[in-house]
Amino acid sequence: MPDVQPALTGLTPDALSEWLAAEGQPAFRAGQILDWVWKKKAASFEAMTNLPAPLRAKLAETFRLHSLEHSQTQGASDTTRKFLFKLHDGRYVESVLIPANPALYGEKSDRRTLCVSSQVGCAYGCKFCASGLAGFTRNLDASEIAGQVLAAEMLSGERVDNLVFMGMGEPLSNLDNLLDAIAIITSPWGLHLGARHLTISTSGLVPQIRKLAAHPQQIRLAISLHGATDAVRQQIMPLNKKWGVDELFGALDDWNARKKQHLTLEYILIEGVNDDLDQARILAMHARRLKAKVNLIPYNTVEGLEWKRPSEHQCRAFRDILKNAGVTAMLRLEKGHDIDAACGQLRLKQETEEGIIEAPAKR
Ligand code: SAH
Ligand code: SF4
Repeated sequence: MPDVQPALTGLTPDALSEWLAAEGQPAFRAGQILDWVWKKKAASFEAMTNLPAPLRAKLAETFRLHSLEHSQTQGASDTTRKFLFKLHDGRYVESVLIPANPALYGEKSDRRTLCVSSQVGCAYGCKFCASGLAGFTRNLDASEIAGQVLAAEMLSGERVDNLVFMGMGEPLSNLDNLLDAIAIITSPWGLHLGARHLTISTSGLVPQIRKLAAHPQQIRLAISLHGATDAVRQQIMPLNKKWGVDELFGALDDWNARKKQHLTLEYILIEGVNDDLDQARILAMHARRLKAKVNLIPYNTVEGLEWKRPSEHQCRAFRDILKNAGVTAMLRLEKGHDIDAACGQLRLKQETEEGIIEAPAKR
């Protein structure tokens, strides 16, 4: 990674206070600076008008204010908007702002949800996923994760109410940086968002699920299941060979024993792959035992991949089996389908245009 100034948005109050003390500055400056960054959302160090000019100059010499450079926005303000950000090393990362989302997680419909990325690319190579296609490049640091929320609020002029870690990458394989970012996002001096408004989505990293279960905050968890048996799941999710469904469900039992919030099981419906009604019956059994909600997502077409979504009739039949078994099941009508809102796709195109990575080969 090239040498680059640290971003102010990655600093905890302690780290900032330490730096200020070394500069001979009074302790109250830390609060003023954090206030400018996270509450007043200052666009530059010069805008921090209650700081002495020499301190502003020293800050600018030492830090970058933000870690993300806005590169592009797709979508209008009353629809799903996708922000593309350039990172200091020329890579890209994306966030998706969803204006009203009554279908998701039972939240009130006037709440705005931001879908946040946790890595550039992804190492887990799920066969249906655009983020997995190009492989893994690197983890995002805490300032790059928390910075997406700040940037989305600054660009939209709106407050983000809910966060879902469902963008590019596998959040639980970047757990330390993720938890540092969550500390910034939930703290009163930072974005002050309640932990129960945060949902981490994972493809099922069992040891990290157990670790997160022991974390004191009531963060929500969503599991990308996409198959109710090993035979079906491991065809499309290579990581299932390492952590099979029984082991995964065992970790989810432990999660339930420690957490109040109900789990969500995400299930993409792919024609002829995992949409058999037998899978629905097995899924229903597990979801009931786990008291989990199920989100059914008809597959979103990815350029270069040949999977298809099932007919609407098949999707409804799948959902009805769950409903009739007493499971809360949502058939999600994909928002933002038209602007490539499925994870990873915008970034993939942008980097391809600049020649950073090859276009995905057909497979
Ligand atoms: N790596 C984590 C976080 C990414 S979440 C995880 O897998 O859970 C991204 C979500 O979008 C996951 O549920 C993923 O399975 C889903 N997804 C990936 N490709 C998709 C596609 N083409 N259509 C619909 N959903 C997709
Ligand atoms: Fe990675 Fe999640 Fe995509 Fe799988 S679904 S490749 S874990 S981002």
